[in-house]
Amino acid sequence: MVSKKIKEIALERIDILFDLAKKEFKKHPERSNRYVKIAKKILMKIQEKMPRKHIYSYCKKCNSYLVIGENATKRKKKKFINLTCKNCGYTRKIYIEAKTLKGNPMLKKK
Ligand SMILES: [Zn+2]
Repeated sequence: MVSKKIKEIALERIDILFDLAKKEFKKHPERSNRYVKIAKKILMKIQEKMPRKHIYSYCKKCNSYLVIGENATKRKKKKFINLTCKNCGYTRKIYIEAKTLKGNPMLKKK
């Protein structure tokens, strides 16, 4: 069992990693991808799922950090949003009604 305190610390680190990934993306996109991988490794160790706010910030298949308009495209259909990763071509279907969309800065209109 992993204690609650360790989990809290780990989740905090994951937030930091995603912040860094966001900052580094313009100059060093490969670093952002590494941060995603590290975050996933931490999650595996504490046996937790990815926090909702980060779910759509990376590609599930190739683990690259996604920025809409840069290496990802967002297409709105009736009930879905199609999020396509340009690195590997993988498309994720996201229900628009899903609660997971709330508070996700990736999918807000600019
Ligand atoms: Zn991908």
